[in-house]
Amino acid sequence: MSVWAILVAAGRGERLGLDRPKAFAKLGASPLLAEPLRRIEASGWVDGIVVVAPPGWEEPAILVAEEEGCGKVRACVAGGETRSASVRLGLAEVPDDALVVLVHDAARPLVPDEVVERVLAPLSQGWDGAVPGLPVGDTLKRADPDGRVRETVPREGLWAVQTPQAFTAEALRRGYAAGGEATDCAGLVEAAGGRVKVVPGDPCLLKVTSRADLELAEALLAGGGRRASGR
Ligand code: C5P
Repeated sequence: MSVWAILVAAGRGERLGLDRPKAFAKLGASPLLAEPLRRIEASGWVDGIVVVAPPGWEEPAILVAEEEGCGKVRACVAGGETRSASVRLGLAEVPDDALVVLVHDAARPLVPDEVVERVLAPLSQGWDGAVPGLPVGDTLKRADPDGRVRETVPREGLWAVQTPQAFTAEALRRGYAAGGEATDCAGLVEAAGGRVKVVPGDPCLLKVTSRADLELAEALLAGGGRRASGR
């Protein structure tokens, strides 16, 4: 089975307020992109990697991959305006004979190899895709823009979904063929009729959006941050 990973890193990350895209913010001593890249490279489950870089930052992204000794990186392409556009551009670089495609947000640097294994497992049981998630623990309210609460949403059966997300290459290509937009890949696969399973995620997979997230990720990393296997 050949498993390819698309690492989407083309977001601008404006909320970090830096002079460079989020993928090149410093996480410890390295650019943020280096951490998920070296973890996916070290995963025994992954055969090839496509990096989707911020437009104009392809060369620096290739340099990070080289510095980290990431020999599985086969292509680095510029991303698009939205996450869906970036995934679509990355998917075009995945070879036709790939059977499974993992899509991961570079903004979630601390990816444990156990989660990679958990999202891949359902694909051999007939599922079209699998996503890691955490059951929603907070009470959920729907409110108007002015803050007026309209309703309390029952949280039973609700999950906060993370990446890496795994799909059969066929289901992912079908999901993206229609040209739609969604905040994650599973949204498009589901819309195309795909069966997607949610499996337990990991709090380490937090998404770096603000400076506070970056500091939290650094603290987790300094504390061991659940290393990828083989490291
Ligand atoms: O913006 P959002 O938080 O959804 O970003 C999730 C991931 O998608 C990040 O790793 C980001 O770099 C990536 N992304 C992208 N291209 C975009 C927007 C986001 O590759 N245009």
